[in-house]
Amino acid sequence: MVEDGYLRDLVLLRRWKRALLAKGADIAALLEQILSGKEVELGAGIPELGATGKEQRLRRFLELIDRGVKRAATDRFGRCTVCGDALLQAVLDEQPWTERCLLHPA
Ligand SMILES: [Zn+2]
Repeated sequence: MVEDGYLRDLVLLRRWKRALLAKGADIAALLEQILSGKEVELGAGIPELGATGKEQRLRRFLELIDRGVKRAATDRFGRCTVCGDALLQAVLDEQPWTERCLLHPA
């Protein structure tokens, strides 16, 4: 039996995956600029991720995005990687790379 909201979820999943891929391309371009010696300002939309420098911050963010893209091919996307609870749609709309619920911050 098809679950309620299954089609809606597929549409959302495609949208989040597209957003992840677009963000990944943006971040890869920024990283390229840094590697070529350009001075780049990282906006507040790029999480700190405990990084000590811009290059590390971008690389960590890219890894986070990449894990999200891989999760989008599974049934675990949009669920906390610790407890498996569903993440809020509003959170995923804003930051589709989110891996954990509020109870399990990184
Ligand atoms: Zn959790």
